[in-house]
Amino acid sequence: MPSGIAYCDETWNVVTGCTADFPCWERCWARGMCQRFPKAFGGDFTPRFHPERLDQPLHWREPRVILVAAIGDLFNDAIGDDCIFQVCGAIRQAPRHRYLFLTKRWQRMARMVLPMLHHLGANGDPVWWGFTAWDNDSARTVVNIVRDCFFRSDDVWLSLEPLLGPVNLGDDLGLFNQVIAGCESGPGARHTPCAWFRDVQSQCREAGVPCYVKQASGEAGEPKVIHFEPEPGDLPWTLRKGAR
Ligand code: SF4
Repeated sequence: MPSGIAYCDETWNVVTGCTADFPCWERCWARGMCQRFPKAFGGDFTPRFHPERLDQPLHWREPRVILVAAIGDLFNDAIGDDCIFQVCGAIRQAPRHRYLFLTKRWQRMARMVLPMLHHLGANGDPVWWGFTAWDNDSARTVVNIVRDCFFRSDDVWLSLEPLLGPVNLGDDLGLFNQVIAGCESGPGARHTPCAWFRDVQSQCREAGVPCYVKQASGEAGEPKVIHFEPEPGDLPWTLRKGAR
């Protein structure tokens, strides 16, 4: 379905749902979507694989930037390895798109990257491996995992969304090919000081990494969520025209 997310054209909800393992659970945007549109997203927020959706990318003729499992986590423990390999097989059939993986289950994705590349075959090139962190400790852990496990850092990106604490990675940001940051949105969203975004942007500039701030909650006391216009070079992949 069209994403409404500024950095991708499409979401491919071949896996939906998640479990309460991280500080994002309480205000999870995806969980809210499942509650509002239960039929579209499989009934509830229990992690679920949807094999009937595997062929969706095959039907999208124009090349698109696709966020995989946008309302869940492909690497949740409840999703079997065989399901993840089927997703890779589907990507292999439709290599004209770019596929963005994104997970907080970093260890599992790192453990699976080699067998997944095997299933992706030569068509592994359009895949971007995304890690989500939310504060300095989680971002440090991601850095260590990427150092240990990823030999294709050209295809590795970092999401800092929602950003719940200041992040100071300095030159280590050079391990990533893209950084995307954003605040929490939706009811009860916690405030993210703009200074934290500016700090990440400035570290990215120093490290030569594109940084896109997807949304910020304004200066202290401002409840409004601000959507940034991407600058040229903010994103290495194509932006959907008119995205927010
Ligand atoms: S990891 Fe993603 S899907 Fe799971 S609770 Fe957090 S924001 Fe929601």
